[in-house]
Amino acid sequence: MKLSVVIPIYNEEASLPSLYARLTSVVQGMQLPYELVFVNDGSMDRSFALLLDLAAADEHVRYIDLSRNFGHQIAVSAGLDAVSGSAVVIIDADLQDPPELIPELYQKMQEGYEVVYAKRRSRQGENAAKKLTARLFYRLLTRITHISIPVDTGDFRIISRKVVDGLKRMPEQNKFLRGQVSWIGYRQTFVEYDRAERAGGETGYTYRKMIRLALDGITAFSDAPLKAATLGGFAVSGIAFLVMLYTLYSKYITHDYEPGWPSLMISILFLGGVQLISVGIIGEYIARLSVNVRNRPLYMVAQTNIPS
Ligand code: UDP
Ligand code: MG
Repeated sequence: MKLSVVIPIYNEEASLPSLYARLTSVVQGMQLPYELVFVNDGSMDRSFALLLDLAAADEHVRYIDLSRNFGHQIAVSAGLDAVSGSAVVIIDADLQDPPELIPELYQKMQEGYEVVYAKRRSRQGENAAKKLTARLFYRLLTRITHISIPVDTGDFRIISRKVVDGLKRMPEQNKFLRGQVSWIGYRQTFVEYDRAERAGGETGYTYRKMIRLALDGITAFSDAPLKAATLGGFAVSGIAFLVMLYTLYSKYITHDYEPGWPSLMISILFLGGVQLISVGIIGEYIARLSVNVRNRPLYMVAQTNIPS
């Protein structure tokens, strides 16, 4: 049984040396054949130079150098495409996911699970806004999707070859891996851990990237926003209809009708707003449709030491 570890790298020169040291000692302790697959996602610092040094000194180190920054999810996908192990660990490079948990994940997998994900019991060193948005996002996602995506879980997990092969058959462009893994099914379980602070450097996830990930997750696994647009449209039309009845009533029955524009303006603006929101929601889905119809490869590799 060979173990592969996939590590996406984006400007991680500060944590790479200790990451490599901790990973290696943990994985060597497991006494299995193994490989460490580092995917350089267009880092602008010395990360890739460090990777080349590591690869020169240690035959277990594999690297894939993407031609530019494609984003975390695609970097992980590139790694998954290249692994040869029968059990595959996905782990962040910044040591927020403790490598020391890997034996426990592996142990659990031996009990007959295809996926063992690591669930955060607590998170340190992240600001309140990030924690709150993450909390809300995971809960919203479970409510509006039909598959059960585990809450408070990142991509830190171990998956079997079966699941890796399944993921490869899902060539969608807007990746939301943890949703895809849930969609694939089989027996899945989790192990809890406390999420540490970043070892060094800073987060590669800007708010922009976080919002994109959230939208990818929602649009890939739920039609609820589209339905909400329809429902909202009906609700607003209903209200407008009631207002109309009321106007007729005050004009012909009670004769206290005030000719004026406020009600007009309010209903026009309200309807206009609802229409724009609905069109926007439809736009989000169409944008993703068109990306998939274009059928481009997911990423470009600049160089690698993995034979294809
Ligand atoms: N990452 C990446 N490409 C990106 C952003 C991040 O490959 O565009 C990697 C990063 O090097 C790390 C992992 O994805 O290994 C998680 O990113 P980060 O720690 O910045 O996210 P956070 O923990 O703040 O959500
Ligand atoms: Mg991090």
